[in-house]
Amino acid sequence: MRQAASIMKLDPNVETILSTPHRILEVSVPVTMDNGSIRIFTGFRVQHNNARGPYKGGIRFHPEVDMEEVKALAIWMTMKCSVVGIPLGGGKGGVIVDSHTLSALELERLTRSYIRAIAPAIGPTKDVPAPDMYTTPQIMAWAADEFSKIHGENVLGVVTGKPLEVGGSAGRGDSTSQGGIYVLEEVCKTYNLPHEGTKVVVQGFGNAGANVAKMLHDNGFKVVGVSDSRGGIYCENGINPDATHSCKLDKGSVVECSGIGGENCKVITNEELLELECDILFLSAMENQVTAANADRIKARFIVELANGPVTPEADVVLEKKGVLVVPDILANAGGVTVSYFELVQNEANFYWTDEEVQERLKKIMVDSWNNVADLAKKYNCTLRQAAFIAALKRLEAAIKLRGYN
Ligand code: NAD
Repeated sequence: MRQAASIMKLDPNVETILSTPHRILEVSVPVTMDNGSIRIFTGFRVQHNNARGPYKGGIRFHPEVDMEEVKALAIWMTMKCSVVGIPLGGGKGGVIVDSHTLSALELERLTRSYIRAIAPAIGPTKDVPAPDMYTTPQIMAWAADEFSKIHGENVLGVVTGKPLEVGGSAGRGDSTSQGGIYVLEEVCKTYNLPHEGTKVVVQGFGNAGANVAKMLHDNGFKVVGVSDSRGGIYCENGINPDATHSCKLDKGSVVECSGIGGENCKVITNEELLELECDILFLSAMENQVTAANADRIKARFIVELANGPVTPEADVVLEKKGVLVVPDILANAGGVTVSYFELVQNEANFYWTDEEVQERLKKIMVDSWNNVADLAKKYNCTLRQAAFIAALKRLEAAIKLRGYN
């Protein structure tokens, strides 16, 4: 943000305002476990900036969640909503928990307890959470239900990413991946990159990664490697992401699924996966994956960041020197928050759109945002990441100045 601020000569007062979050909540989340004991979990919600609209951002259930991470993710959300021009601000939440160790009922009680703890600070016009790592549409359904019970009325727009049956939007489930694909199409046009024969590697095989792998495969790209937290598989002749996903659901990890690709497949580590020979590397797991330590060994010509912050600033410098084009997270993965915004709009109107309407609007926003960022990169002779931040900061600067500082 500071690099972009310096390049575009952002008003220093705006930079000061954006340097700290508006509000930080740390809450105690008591849960009655199935054995009758009480466990206290720690939860966070950070509201970074709402100059352009209500705070917006996911909730992460992960053992390594901490306040610094949530603060960083909240700033990213402010930038992300602004780069695609949707009228929302930035926030983020999390609970320190290994959700795999909880039963379904414990997970429901944890979700409801967390929502009760942060309820005074959230709502459709205040702050609208959504899913993130290890949080699902079911968890969002419990969250909306708990908040609605507290208020004695249906307030489905309090969270997004809900199942279709309870106020979800068509297209939300795979919107992050679809948005990334719409941007990739523009990258392909700009750099004359064909679909057929172009080799892609996807790190992370969850919501974002598995869906993007399927879409890439359906669009004619050759997906040669995928991975999850336990490791990866590399298949010289290409992977069938649908079959691999079914296998992962059955066996727990893609590393158990190399067999379905035949003898040209092998199990590899996540470190090896990142350094595979390929044209495009989709990073869809978590932050800090490409660092100063491994950036020099990346062989992809293009990196698309579906995860938030998977390339460190130090790695960015190395990749730029190597000529690797990085499509930055705040643009590449903004499809998710864009359809979240559509979901909020539909909930508030209680009037729902078709999948075609969602796709048409999503595509327009992603393509327009790519064009704006690509133009700014040319104008300022800077990287796409710096240009994306410049695009975001320009809108934020205008809103913050119009609203006033005091
Ligand atoms: P998810 O929990 O559905 O999937 C995460 C995947 O990453 C899992 O397959 C997990 O096994 C894998 N993983 C975890 N650690 C790994 C590691 N060290 N190496 C390789 N794989 C690893 O989460 P998701 O919703 O797909 O989110 C993934 C990333 O995308 C996160 O950074 C998230 O913030 C970002 N994101 C997601 C959305 C969305 O709508 N889902 C939107 C914007 C950004």
